[in-house]
Amino acid sequence: MSVTYDFTGKVALITGSSGGIGAGIAVQLAQSGASVVVTGRNADKVAEVAKQCLNVSPKGVKPLEVLADVTKREDLRRLVDQTIGRFGKLDIVVNNAGALFFGTITDHNFYDNYAKTMSVNLDSVVYLTHICVEYLEKTNGNIINISSMASKRTVRNVSAYCMAKSALDMFGQCMAAELGPKRIRVNTINVGYIPTGIYESSGVSRDSVEAYTELYRQRLPVGREGRPIDVAQAVHFLASDHATFITGANLVIDGGDLAANTCLDHLS
Ligand code: NDP
Repeated sequence: MSVTYDFTGKVALITGSSGGIGAGIAVQLAQSGASVVVTGRNADKVAEVAKQCLNVSPKGVKPLEVLADVTKREDLRRLVDQTIGRFGKLDIVVNNAGALFFGTITDHNFYDNYAKTMSVNLDSVVYLTHICVEYLEKTNGNIINISSMASKRTVRNVSAYCMAKSALDMFGQCMAAELGPKRIRVNTINVGYIPTGIYESSGVSRDSVEAYTELYRQRLPVGREGRPIDVAQAVHFLASDHATFITGANLVIDGGDLAANTCLDHLS
């Protein structure tokens, strides 16, 4: 039996919703009646996910499509302005856009990759939160940050990513405390391995991703790899009126990886 919360009349902005986990979240919220903002840098992918959202929307609410690079403040400002321009309000922000850059501290380009990692995974979230609070306050809205289990243990050759996600976890808790009086909830999801495009985008071969996924199937307590819908369903709940007592939480969604310590050597 699938559980459905009613998001009719709610406006949800999901960064990085042109693919992977973010697309799954956008479709799930659209299916529950939300007006969704689909955004990313790739126009074709944004259009494709927006089409999927429209197809499942019970009242045929057309998503807003916005091309934006989350590392650019002016793009984030335009993203919010266009959202308010189209829908007049904002109820839910899912900070999902993220990227991985593999490398070690001695690499000649380590610091450049460190800066890019912080910019995409952390700075963008801080800035978007900063400019969204005034709207979320009006709707008693909520924020969900998509973090990683990499914030909770080291993962080889992605130290900057581990640090960015670790800081993101703390940012979520600080914001839950700070924004509580404004009746804005802030929660964090720590995602485990899910075979999306994030690995190939960072230079990992498809064969390595497939081999890694097979290892996860064998070793994870749940006996299968994670899927975007696993995260989307959790966002669905946390963003809903059924979770109004939940703020400052970190929800681990990793098929039991952390608990069973099935950490595998990673993909680089
Ligand atoms: P994908 O690479 O599949 O999707 C990433 C999304 O983010 C795309 O829609 C991409 O859009 C967007 N994006 C990336 N960089 C930018 C940017 N500079 N500006 C705007 N949009 C951007 O990754 P996942 O779906 O796997 O990852 C989603 C989140 O989940 C990330 O925060 C990631 O760190 C986290 N996560 C993922 C795990 C996994 O195993 N997959 C594990 C733990 C956490 P476009 O290409 O159109 O710009």
